[in-house]
Amino acid sequence: MILAAKDLALSIKDEVKKNVAENNLKLTLAVILVGEDNASKIYVRNKKIACEYIGIKSLIYELPESISQNELLEIVFELNERSDVTGILVQLPLPKHIDEAFIMENINPLKDVDGFHPENVGKLTLGSPKLVPCTAIGIIKLLEHFKINIDGENCVVVGRSNDVGKPVASLMLAKNATVTICHSHTKNLAQITKTADILISAVGKAKFINCDMIKENSTLIDVGMNRIDGKLCGDIDFDSCISKAKNITPVPGGVGLMTIAMLMQNCIIANALQKFRNVGK
Ligand code: NAP
Repeated sequence: MILAAKDLALSIKDEVKKNVAENNLKLTLAVILVGEDNASKIYVRNKKIACEYIGIKSLIYELPESISQNELLEIVFELNERSDVTGILVQLPLPKHIDEAFIMENINPLKDVDGFHPENVGKLTLGSPKLVPCTAIGIIKLLEHFKINIDGENCVVVGRSNDVGKPVASLMLAKNATVTICHSHTKNLAQITKTADILISAVGKAKFINCDMIKENSTLIDVGMNRIDGKLCGDIDFDSCISKAKNITPVPGGVGLMTIAMLMQNCIIANALQKFRNVGK
């Protein structure tokens, strides 16, 4: 089965849209883009389009590469204080002279719609998630939508980034999978990936996973967004793996669509958390 996310992502966005309209929610997502990275510009544009579809106001800050860390921090502080701003998202990667972790730490955790603030990471790890990284929660929703069993399954996550690998591993563990995380120092990677009932690849290298690295009848979740001759492709060699795997996500049309849908849902969650704590209202 090809796990196409188009219908599911649309239904999640429609649900958010209905919620916004019926409850007359006034939500604003602030997105900060620093520099000229082309991929980042596309991601920000897609987020803006999703906000427009749903009825969430978006404030896009396009800042020069040369902005200092303190200047960026000032903008984050201002957005933290603004009662009309529901969510704050700083598009990564940031230029090398800016400490990404430091910027994330200074976003109000109740407005942290990317789920990267240490408080939100801690809550996820402790098993009481609030704002969870969008790609990771999107993968769980996708598996659940297609009724793919997680409980007791061997799950191998390739990649240990803070935005995808670690949070998806935490969520799979919370769903009772037996989780192995691999990275660039892992020895005998193929031996490990071959044990996976569910293999999640978040590496960022085109065709990195081939059919000799997967288990028969497994489920393959491809997070990678790579380009070959300008064409978008994932980490998993789709053509070589499709006949051996039971399920596989396409790129494009898979995990990426879920990421945006879950970002929209995180805006609703952030709004509810702020109301509950009476933040800036
Ligand atoms: P990242 O921060 O660069 O992390 C990549 C991970 O891959 C690292 O943990 C790295 O290991 C590991 N790795 C690199 N080479 C490896 C090797 N030879 N064997 C095993 N592991 C290896 O990337 P990311 O932010 O997680 O993103 C990964 C990919 O997903 C990118 O293509 C990105 O564009 C895409 N992405 C897609 C979405 C979406 O919505 N679909 C969202 C976010 C990211 P070390 O830690 O040892 O360096």
